[in-house]
Formats: sequence, structure tokens, C-alpha cells
Amino acid sequence: MRLPVKATHQATREHNVRLVLRAIADMGPISRADIARRTSLTRTTVSDVVGQLSDAGLVMEIGRGPSSGGKAPILLQIPRDARQLIGLHIGDEQVRGVVVNLAGDIIHRAQHAVHGRDGAHALSQLDALVDELMLAAGTPPVGIGIGTPGLVDTQAGVVRWAASLDWRDLPLATRVADRTGLPVYVANDSQAAALAEWTYGRHVEARAMVAIRVGIGIGAGIIIDDRLYQGDGFGAGEIGHTTVVDDGPPCRCGRLGCLESVASLRAVLERVEGTLHRWPGTSELERACAGFGAGDPAIRDAVLDAGRHLGRALGGIIDTLDIRYIVLVGPMSLFGQPWLEAVRSTARRSALPLLAEGTIIELGKLGPDVEELGAAALLMTAEIGLSQAA
Ligand SMILES: [Zn+2]
Repeated sequence: MRLPVKATHQATREHNVRLVLRAIADMGPISRADIARRTSLTRTTVSDVVGQLSDAGLVMEIGRGPSSGGKAPILLQIPRDARQLIGLHIGDEQVRGVVVNLAGDIIHRAQHAVHGRDGAHALSQLDALVDELMLAAGTPPVGIGIGTPGLVDTQAGVVRWAASLDWRDLPLATRVADRTGLPVYVANDSQAAALAEWTYGRHVEARAMVAIRVGIGIGAGIIIDDRLYQGDGFGAGEIGHTTVVDDGPPCRCGRLGCLESVASLRAVLERVEGTLHRWPGTSELERACAGFGAGDPAIRDAVLDAGRHLGRALGGIIDTLDIRYIVLVGPMSLFGQPWLEAVRSTARRSALPLLAEGTIIELGKLGPDVEELGAAALLMTAEIGLSQAA
């Protein structure tokens, strides 16, 4: 099959823009020649892309660097504070948001509580949060990115299905865009988290990556060739509801033995419910972390079992995708190295040894802001893509 020429050119151009921007963000101040070396693009292509980016105000020249014999090269940098973006995450117990600059530095943070499983309440809290962040941003931001649980049609900005919020075919992007007059982009939160680690996590040497987000739910985001891979129906990485234990514990989707029912934070908290009161903390998660750190055997068993279940699922992902770089994000990563080790060792045993050998599995670098940052990264990618479309 041949792709339409125009579509192919457009995709190449967007890809080049992302490569150049990422090189400047990661290694700036940097010269055009060094960008060409780092990205393997031609000098002409780099110059063209840099021209487009500086016209859009996303790149600036900051003077000349040291000369290596010839004329000293002009250095480029992202004007970090030239524009701002808003990133939001609709989480299990709260909606959280950040205002970030073009480099992903967080300038302002806010959050509002959400009653569990109440989709209408989540929407009203989201509106309030957006108003607050618009005020904090001052000058009108580039736009708004939103990470949400569920199956999301990113192109249409529609949440097809979010079990935890009881949303079906919710036109979330249009709704927020109508209220604010800004461009709005929506993606699944695990996919957003993957974009965040990819864009802001400084995993410079990786070519592809899988980020697994483990919280109350479980999902994966897949980056291939510097792009978020979403599958044919935007559902790539929806691994949480694959059956892994026949007749296992009940899952919130209504079935039995899903990966979420044995490997998620919810699975752990339900299993240790009776012992949590012994440990200090203002939330169940804090109590569980305190007990885990102090060696409570019931909590340790629950957390490490959950890690092993996740590891087995990762084995399948390693063999299917042959992606050597896997990052674990989300609230469950608060259990740290022992949980990571349980995931890691089981994944290595579950995958084909030749593939498992070279696979790196580690904790994400961005901490609890990862989904909001991912939503901002989604917006940035999309807006830069759009700005090149004319
Ligand atoms: Zn399920």
C-alpha cells in the first residue's frame, strides 16, 4: 500500500520538528551543526526547521559559542518563559493541574478533590481548576492538555469510555474549548504519562519507550520512533483489563481476574485493608507506604505479589514490542525499589531471555506531576504539528 504523498511529507516534517525541538530542549544552547549531528538530519533540514520554530517564537538565538577553528557557531535555545501551557489530570480522587513553560518547568500547581466515581462532580471541579489556572497563567496560554482515565479518541477530543467516571462519548475537548476559547487536547492518562517521560524525562539515549502507569488502574503508553503510538482505535496500552487469573478477584469492570484486580494499587489496598489502621498517614496510600517501609509482612506480601503480577504482564509486552526501555510511573511507584525489583525480576523471567537481557526497567523521573506534564507535552506536540500544517 502506498501512503498519500502529502500525508507522508506532513508526518516527516512533524517528526523533524520534534527531533530538532527535543535536541534543543535536551542539549541547548546548541548550534545548528550540533543539532544536525545529534539528530542525523541534514544541515539544510535543520536550518529550515529552526527557521519555522523561531518564526513561531519557540526557538531563539542567544549569541555565538566557542569556535573550533572557523567562524563561531550561533547557539540556539528555547525561550523557556515565552509561552505557557496548562496541563490537567483527572485522577481517582482529585483533578490536578499545572501551568508550565515551554521547557516543562512548573510555574504553578493546583488541585481540587473529586468524589469517587462521580463524573458530573469531576467535570465541575475541572472547570473550577481551569479557571484558577488561567488566572495564574496571566497571559493567555498556548492551550490546555488533559489526561484522563479511559479510552480516549485524541483526534476528536472525545472520551469514548471511562468506567471510573461513568463517562461515555463525552466531548471533553469541545466542552473545555468552548468555555475558554483555547485549543484543547485530550489523551488517556497513561499515554500522557508516557509522553511526559519522553518529552521531559531526559531519557536521551532511548529510541522507543513503554511507560506503565500503575495507580488505582493500570495502563501503558507506548512511544515508537519519537511518537505516541495509540493503535487503530486509540486503545494501545489498555492492559489493565486483560484476564491474568482465572476466576480471580472481582474487577471494577465487572469481570474477574483482570490485571488491575491483582496488580494495581486498588488490589493492594483492598488486600491490606485490615492492617492499614496501624500505620500513620492521611490517606490509605500513605498508611500503606508507612507500613511497607516498616516491614509490615502483610503489606509487603501484597505489594510484592502485585509487582510480580505486573512483571508477568511486562514479559508479554517485552516479547510483543521488543522495546528495551520500560519506565514505571504512577502512585504505585511510591513503594520504590523493592516493588521495582519484584516487577523487574518477574518480567525478566517471563520474557524470552534474549530480549529480556537488554531490557531496562526503571522508575519514572518526573514524580507525581507526570500526567499533568504529559497533557502539556501532548498539547505542545499537537500545537507545533498544527503550526506547521499551513
Ligand atoms: Zn477489569
